[in-house]
Amino acid sequence: MGKRIGFIGLGIMGTPMAGHLAKGGHQIKAYDVFAPARERAAAAGLTVVNSNKEAATDVDVVISMVPDSPHVEAVYLGENGVLEGASKGTLLIDMSSISPITARKVAESATAKGCPMIDAPVSGGDVGAKEARLSIMVGGDEAVFKQAEPILKLMGTPTYCGASGAGQTVKACNQIQVAMNFIGMAEALVLGAKAGVEPEIILKVLSAGYAQTRVMDVRGPRIIKGDYEPGFRASFHYKDLNIIREAARAFGASLPASALAHELFSAMMANGWGNLDHSAVVKVIEKLSNCELPVKE
Ligand code: NAD
Repeated sequence: MGKRIGFIGLGIMGTPMAGHLAKGGHQIKAYDVFAPARERAAAAGLTVVNSNKEAATDVDVVISMVPDSPHVEAVYLGENGVLEGASKGTLLIDMSSISPITARKVAESATAKGCPMIDAPVSGGDVGAKEARLSIMVGGDEAVFKQAEPILKLMGTPTYCGASGAGQTVKACNQIQVAMNFIGMAEALVLGAKAGVEPEIILKVLSAGYAQTRVMDVRGPRIIKGDYEPGFRASFHYKDLNIIREAARAFGASLPASALAHELFSAMMANGWGNLDHSAVVKVIEKLSNCELPVKE
């Protein structure tokens, strides 16, 4: 039987995700703090309400997909927030990418109110959200994960990662690896350009061997065309690198390459490139070497 679901955060990711749940036979009460996002959701046929509290009232499940840790704290713990509206037993699922420390803190407050909560961030981007092919990383009580699994499966493939915060930790690990791949590709292309080797040759040869990465296969050809249309905005990856540094401090991990990646992404923000795709970190590496990659239209 269809469940009553409050869906909070109707942006690039949240809108198609809420759409899949509605198509799956669930009743959605949608909310976003940004009025145009609410209007878009209403035009797409979703029932829209007027606060996070209202989205969490008289529902079986609440799902959130907002930008960062402070937004998740505001959604759940803030005035007119989810914990004011939810009744005991309402299942709470935060799918935003946030700090594992904040995820644990919010889940503890929810549990104290009698609402089980899991963290369930995703990878797969806007395309994965539209096609319901997200990889979903879940932290929290395993029995709660089992309860949430049928709903999560309407949006992609869920994997249980461990206790509260573990989903966010795995997402942070994912973002480390993706950042390193982008920076590695950027340095390879810039060294090639400085030495007079065409970027296409670098991509072709590296993709055929041990250096092959999905990042290079998907984004390499677009870099060569000078196409930095997002995908995943650099400002979001910068946010994720902040989360990685916070988690590294909290758990006592020394991650020197992530610290360097953070600085390179800081340079993207300083140059006003936050709204470009994260592959545009190559522009920072170009700048450091006083070099411009040849662009092929
Ligand atoms: P977005 O900015 O398009 O959407 C977020 C929405 O949350 C906005 O519409 C905003 O108004 C709303 N919001 C913010 N604060 C709110 C509040 N207090 N109450 C209600 N609504 C609030 O962002 P997005 O691209 O959909 O990303 C959402 C999350 O998913 C982020 O954590 C991001 O890192 C993660 N993510 C994004 C992608 C991607 O490709 N875009 C991929 C994987 C993960």
